Amino acid sequence: MIIIIYIIYGTTFMFEPGQSWKTAALRISKCVCLFFAKKRGDKMDEKYMELALLQAKKAYKRKEVPVGCIIVLNNKIIAKAYNYVEKKKSTLEHAELIAIKKAQKKINNWRLNDCTIYVTLEPCLMCLNAIAQSRIKKIVYGTKSTYLTKEERKIEEYICQKNKIEIINNIKETESLNLIKNFFQEIRKHK
Ligand SMILES: [Zn+2]
Repeated sequence: MIIIIYIIYGTTFMFEPGQSWKTAALRISKCVCLFFAKKRGDKMDEKYMELALLQAKKAYKRKEVPVGCIIVLNNKIIAKAYNYVEKKKSTLEHAELIAIKKAQKKINNWRLNDCTIYVTLEPCLMCLNAIAQSRIKKIVYGTKSTYLTKEERKIEEYICQKNKIEIINNIKETESLNLIKNFFQEIRKHK
């Protein structure tokens, strides 16, 4: 489907009146490059989200809410973390916050400008603020949070716009969501 859209998009440029064949060829080649770059991006996002899911599964085993996180810089993983709130008895032990601390330590810099953060669950506002403060510009998350209110969503949008943060969502959404659902179902069973 996407290929067809790209071909149609490319050929409409080709038939633009008064356009030289060179410009048309250049535009079409740009389309093809963009298509493959996007495809590669999607695949990499899935690959990293898979690793974030492995972290979330570790949290699950330790009876923590299963949220996992990975931070990537120049195609290298510089931090992995999972939720550790119960064990540490601290709300500051969200997967994203732990991963940010690890990444900053790893590159010896609080600015994580060129990093991408992969997290299985949409970040809460505390974590989103920490992501913005550490200058991360790209968030990829698995499943949408059901806890965020309408008002909080507006704040989320504001923070992202102000800090020029790009969000890619729903990568490995079902797996991320099922993990959380199963976790809470099991908790209810044992109550
Ligand atoms: Zn959080």
